[in-house]
Amino acid sequence: MTEGTAPELTPEEAELSRRHAELAELIEQASARYYGQDAPTVSDAEYDSWMREITAIEERRPQLRTPDSPTQKVGGAVSPEFTTVEHLRRLESLDNAFNTADLTDWQGRALKLAERDPAPYLCELKIDGLAVALVYEKGRLVRAATRGTGTVGEDVTANVRTISDVPERLAGDDVPDLMEVRGEVYLPVWGFEKLNEQLGEAGKKLFANPRNSAAGSLRQKDPQITAQRELRMIVHGVGVWQGAAPPKAQSEMYDRLKSFGLPVSDRYKVVATMAEVQEFVDYYADHRHDTEYEIDGVVVKLDRVDVQRQLGSTSKFPRWAIAYKYPPEEVTTKLLDIQVGIGRTGRVTPFGVMTPVVVAGSTVERATLHNGSEVVRKGVLIGDTIVLRKAGDVIPEIVAPVADLRDGSERAFVMPTHCPECGTELAFEREGDADLRCPNTRACPAQLRERIFFAAGRNAFDIEGLGYVAATALTQPLRPQEPVMRTEADLFDLTIEQLLPIESFVRDQDTGLAKLDPATGEEKVVAFFATKSGAPSKNALTMLENLEKAKEAPVARVLVALSIRHVGLPTATALAKEFRSIRAIAEASVEELAEVEGIGARVAETIKEWFEVDWHREIVDRWRAAGVVMEDPEPVDAMPQTLAGLTFVVTGTLADFSRDEAAAEITSRGGKVTASVSKKTDFVVVGENAGSKYDKAVTLKVPILDEDGFQVLVTQGVEAARGIAVVEEK
Ligand code: NAD
Repeated sequence: MTEGTAPELTPEEAELSRRHAELAELIEQASARYYGQDAPTVSDAEYDSWMREITAIEERRPQLRTPDSPTQKVGGAVSPEFTTVEHLRRLESLDNAFNTADLTDWQGRALKLAERDPAPYLCELKIDGLAVALVYEKGRLVRAATRGTGTVGEDVTANVRTISDVPERLAGDDVPDLMEVRGEVYLPVWGFEKLNEQLGEAGKKLFANPRNSAAGSLRQKDPQITAQRELRMIVHGVGVWQGAAPPKAQSEMYDRLKSFGLPVSDRYKVVATMAEVQEFVDYYADHRHDTEYEIDGVVVKLDRVDVQRQLGSTSKFPRWAIAYKYPPEEVTTKLLDIQVGIGRTGRVTPFGVMTPVVVAGSTVERATLHNGSEVVRKGVLIGDTIVLRKAGDVIPEIVAPVADLRDGSERAFVMPTHCPECGTELAFEREGDADLRCPNTRACPAQLRERIFFAAGRNAFDIEGLGYVAATALTQPLRPQEPVMRTEADLFDLTIEQLLPIESFVRDQDTGLAKLDPATGEEKVVAFFATKSGAPSKNALTMLENLEKAKEAPVARVLVALSIRHVGLPTATALAKEFRSIRAIAEASVEELAEVEGIGARVAETIKEWFEVDWHREIVDRWRAAGVVMEDPEPVDAMPQTLAGLTFVVTGTLADFSRDEAAAEITSRGGKVTASVSKKTDFVVVGENAGSKYDKAVTLKVPILDEDGFQVLVTQGVEAARGIAVVEEK
């Protein structure tokens, strides 16, 4: 527009236009990095928030919705490194839903356009890979191309031919003459992790996520590199289908594609209502990590092809499908510092301190970096913008730096040479170890604090009132200067008199920092185990009470509490079962220890060595002297093995036993319980509403016991039961 003819913009309109241009630019740049170089500089969450903002601006000022706006185009480009190909039909993106209301709106629009109920719906997983179109002529793969701009893609035929999921020739008699099928090329999550490990070891740049690693692996100039990357593919749509009767439904299409030998997911579901769609969405929100590939949501499609046609597409996406996106599990944030922590076995663990950021529903500001070589392998520098990933319940992980955003002010982490808590020189225990350790095992206050905290934990003595802060107060109190505990041997000798004078900082609940006393401006200090009036606090009493109870703890838990390396609860339980007392374990030879199931020679040696250390033995002796039992009772006489050699199946609902209880009655008498009925089954115990197992018993003529018969079996034995068992005739 020339000057003079341009209408005056109000300040608000001008601001919207300015922000629109700014967002369009940001989105273009991010897309170029993401699609062109498979190395994004911003997180998907941030990118999505820009898209939402620009869409909202266009709602308010529709003039800005020009054909070259990012809201109107399929994101993506073609790299000059590849030959370009024109797609037979445009490849599209997907409209997004972020909540139930968005899904309902989409269904409402579909209902209006179709002028009838658009059901059924096909729900499937949104695989976070990259879109590829395969062209088959007379059943032969002739071309494969990336989505690119939607109309033009990159020719990756040679690379796609290395993917074993993709058939060279289609099977069957009803293969279309010409077919273009679309799908997602992905790298399984384990493949992504393995690849990043290899790249890290070779000192190369890591991929931020499985999607980028798949795209980077497929878009290689040398197909031999692609061939090494264990890429997979799942198809989820068709662009062209000529020369054979076309399918009438998306689900029918999948059946046909599968019959041709193409890789179709078996995790899709056709449902009749939006409530069931929501159920599918909710199910996979909880089971997001049960799949071998990364998913970022669920795609809901109208199943009927005639309704799909009726609804058609916008310039960017089909109206008959929508992607319900799950909250992102990957964000970017700033790595402010790398510090080290000392664990209960002296291991030095570097961890990243980050600008707090919300990921997968929780605020994260620290993440472990495991050890010094991991920091090098990941190539992270202090001051970097980093990709942080928190997949489900897994602990947050610093994946990789966004190296392109560096400004030169970043600095490398240097592993300390001395323990930050006790000043001892750090060392590797053996040559080739990954972990540095603080060798001051006995007296390092950090190690002692961690061991005491661990001994009070769930798998050990389970002492309420002795959490991390209490463990700190006992081992590193502010006043008196001398800590109450200098070794965990003191644990069961603690007295209320010792506890009352212990003081500690008052810490801010949110920041963990010491609070300042408003009167003096100094750090605020209070008695840790006493109330204001000087009486024992509830916490102190609870802790002492629980310590008293813990004296009766079974051997396995005492063993865990000793913090012997490699001895967690399962190992401790196996040892306790075999030896029954801490004394017997301490006296056992390496060979005897190694005979216990699940305990290898190395663990056996570690246990033996542990008990040979004087101050370790002192812990055991002092705990014993304080009244810790350290011996399990003799097992009660085993039940007479009246059912030895017999095999049972339990089915249906019994009135007096759950199925597990009934099975326990059998196994405790030496019988075996199996899941399915075969000719080898001696008896089938049948409760109410028994199904196919009962039928099978009838067919195979296996003796059947009802609940009364089962009672006879357990109380009077197998001969009595045989007398009343029934062999049903068909
Ligand atoms: P999209 O990834 O949200 O959805 C469309 C694509 O989903 C389709 O092209 C298809 O290949 C794929 N898909 C996966 N499973 C499918 C299934 N079962 N059925 C149908 N399609 C399925 O949209 P998009 O346009 O490809 O990409 C946009 C998204 O990419 C953004 O939301 C953002 O998360 C990410 N992105 C990030 C950056 C960045 O810088 N971080 C840049 C560009 C794009």
